[in-house]
Amino acid sequence: MPLDFKISTQSETGGRRAQLVLPHQTVETPVFMPVGTAGTVKAVPQNILEDLGAQIILGNTYHLYLRPGHEPIRRMGGLHRFISWPRAMLTDSGGFQVFSLSELRKVTDEGVRFRSHLDGSSHFFTPEHSMDVQIALGADIAMAFDECTEYPADRTRAEESLRLTMAWARRSLDHHTAHRHEVPWDEEQGCRTQCLFGIVQGGMYPDLRKESAERLVEMNFDGYAIGGLSVGEPRDLTLEMISEVLPLLPKDKPRYVMGVGYPDEIEQYARMGVDMMDCVLPTRAARHGLLFTSEGRLNIKGKRYAEDQGPPDPACDCMVCRRYSRAYLRHLMHSGEALSATLNSIHNLAYYLGIMKRVRATCGGADAR
Ligand SMILES: [Zn+2]
Repeated sequence: MPLDFKISTQSETGGRRAQLVLPHQTVETPVFMPVGTAGTVKAVPQNILEDLGAQIILGNTYHLYLRPGHEPIRRMGGLHRFISWPRAMLTDSGGFQVFSLSELRKVTDEGVRFRSHLDGSSHFFTPEHSMDVQIALGADIAMAFDECTEYPADRTRAEESLRLTMAWARRSLDHHTAHRHEVPWDEEQGCRTQCLFGIVQGGMYPDLRKESAERLVEMNFDGYAIGGLSVGEPRDLTLEMISEVLPLLPKDKPRYVMGVGYPDEIEQYARMGVDMMDCVLPTRAARHGLLFTSEGRLNIKGKRYAEDQGPPDPACDCMVCRRYSRAYLRHLMHSGEALSATLNSIHNLAYYLGIMKRVRATCGGADAR
């Protein structure tokens, strides 16, 4: 059964407002997805994510596979039930963390051998194994196993990396198609089951990106992601790659740009027609005292806020800005209080989710909310 993706309105710049019907939630797009690395969006409880209007969150396959393990999670009814999150979830393939966090990795056509960054134990990930793990976790959306091409990468390296990613995409799709019905919640949810997105790679080479997109579209995934961006390249190059790839992806399927970005970037990409984005930035920056506000970036550690009784962002009506002052947030940060990460993260997430809400409201059409 094809993924149910209904586009309601479209703007002149290519942005669109749509509904993505997933087993656990009908997601209004464009959507920002908070990153819940190890089964938690760091420092923010699930009920608050619901209050903030988060419709879908990410789980990281690599982290959950290593700890507590996908089999225990499957036995407990899947990731939704384990972390008590009733709305939609997406898991990444584990590839990105295998390449960025683990040690002593060895890549072959078959898969990747790596050592856990936690205890040094040896593991072997193949596309089939990544699918098995993601099916056991049971997110609404799984991602094909890919190799995230690093930046900078010369042409030969980018070509070789793409060859691997395309072969792995085929194997991911075949294995997922054969086993997708094995998700832990399949019977409860009736007809809808986990869907699988392909990932466009190709480094910063437009022709490789084009080849990647065309071959994935031929394979017919439920949706398409653009990966390998925000890996250290200049911002105009990120934009160029997105502009090159977007027109090559089917208009009637969701388009997801992975791992971006700053507030103005996510707004820009959404207005170009990107439907889904995720990024650790709002929560990671929050833990370092960086708040995104309508007046720009605010470093709450600054001495000038020591007796500032104004809200973090005067234009924000989140639960933090309604209740607490800059002076208090600064004090919590300086004292190393656990509440600091929580309150800063709540505001930043509210800010990011608010941007997408605004974009949805202005995507054209009288019925837009
Ligand atoms: Zn706020």
